[in-house]
Amino acid sequence: MSDFPTELFINGELRPSKSRKTIPQINPATEEQFCAVAAATLEDLEDAVQGAQQAFVTQWRDLTPRKRTDLLFGLAAMIRKNSESLAQLECRNIGKPIADARDEVELGARVFEYYAGAIGKFFGQTIPVGRGGFDFTLRQPMGAVAAIVPWNFPFPIACWKVAPALAAGNTVVLKPASQSPLTAIYLGKLAHEAGLPVGTLQVLPGSGGQIGDALVKHALIRKISFTGSTVVGAHIMELAAHDLKRVSLELGGKSPNIIFADSNVDEAASSSPMSVFANTGQDCCARSRVFVERSVYDRFVEGFVTATKKLVVGDPTDDKTQIGPLVSSAQREISEKFIGEAQGQGRKIACGGKRLNRKGYFLEPTVILEVQPNDRVWREEVFGPVVSIRPFEDETKMLEEVNASPYGLSGSIWTNNLQRALRVARAVESGVLSINSHSSVHLEAPFGGFKQSGIGRDLGMNAMEGYTEVKNVYIAG
Ligand code: NAD
Repeated sequence: MSDFPTELFINGELRPSKSRKTIPQINPATEEQFCAVAAATLEDLEDAVQGAQQAFVTQWRDLTPRKRTDLLFGLAAMIRKNSESLAQLECRNIGKPIADARDEVELGARVFEYYAGAIGKFFGQTIPVGRGGFDFTLRQPMGAVAAIVPWNFPFPIACWKVAPALAAGNTVVLKPASQSPLTAIYLGKLAHEAGLPVGTLQVLPGSGGQIGDALVKHALIRKISFTGSTVVGAHIMELAAHDLKRVSLELGGKSPNIIFADSNVDEAASSSPMSVFANTGQDCCARSRVFVERSVYDRFVEGFVTATKKLVVGDPTDDKTQIGPLVSSAQREISEKFIGEAQGQGRKIACGGKRLNRKGYFLEPTVILEVQPNDRVWREEVFGPVVSIRPFEDETKMLEEVNASPYGLSGSIWTNNLQRALRVARAVESGVLSINSHSSVHLEAPFGGFKQSGIGRDLGMNAMEGYTEVKNVYIAG
């Protein structure tokens, strides 16, 4: 028996899978299995969806805004009360450095507080129309919605889907990734303990191909909010087209980090490694393509490599660790393949590229130079601790290369010239940008991608709007 929940969370209780099947959970820092989690069956899924629908129709949708607000503030307080257990669990489940895990749990609590506070401030419009009549809009919840989340930021991404969906009056079926289900199950249990009605938040760990697909196809599910790879996102969109289900998709990225000669080059160089290596590079916003103006290229590269070598890579349970292991052996092999290919093409590995001499799926942060525009490592999402740096001479040509990517999620621009900063920010095809900073995620602001990085926005009031339908009502005058 473990001291944390490992079963499905359906209708207010923890239960084993109907098939008794489980998904082993491996600690990526030790390569050892430390527990197994129930794997939902289609029968479990049916119970969860029916329960969520029942909770929507009989309870949640009609609660007063005040009551819903109180309940979500209560859940935020429960998250805070259990924050250390949640952080330790995330650290063990996916090898996330404990300091980052603590920050992410705190972010989850703040997301619930933000949307709890938003409930009473979220309303429709009155619109002048016609002669004498009166027209107004209502923002109405959709029903039971599905949240399908990845393994790289399991807790905060679950919170930033569940919180606005619940705040807007929907009930939620949450499907965590098979590699990282533990904090999601914990969240379901905390929601129940905080007093949310039975069925309001259901948590269904299970296979993406089976449970994920079935959720997307289920007639009672009104919206799919998905974060994950572009390939699976496109597949979900195809399935959802069948009954015109609403989708929001937060997908992959290949974000640029653009350094102009007129910036604080040393600050850009010393801060940039964590913009790609944080979370061991398993970050959709990772700035893995660095464009540096030729005249400061050597200085920037030297600063970047020096800062990279200082990063503390190792035991994720240690407070000082900045970079933990990759989530799995397979995920490490993907990065190693990119590195091997670059070496085979004669590219220069300025540092890193090797495993650590210890157990766990560790890989040194790796800096690759002399890459060419068609190199796979320069074009494709690696989702590991690998960065490429290239010089540029001309702003227009550089922007063409930036925008040649099919992705458009995030990015940084470093310059002290205000006009240039604004011009480049306007030109980069990307949903999120930061100037003289690498900060991408602000819970009060919209987050999401252009092009193949997604559709729709998480966070901010945009997310809450995305969990409602707009109804227009006209009253004759
Ligand atoms: P993934 O697409 O493999 O899985 C994401 C989730 O989808 C998991 O819960 C998985 O079980 C489920 N799933 C898999 N197949 C499914 C199917 N056929 N139908 C329904 N659900 C299915 O992604 P991942 O490997 O967990 O995460 C990494 C990817 O996520 C990267 O590409 C990364 O860029 C992206 N990501 C994007 C953001 C963002 O906000 N844009 C944030 C984090 C991660």
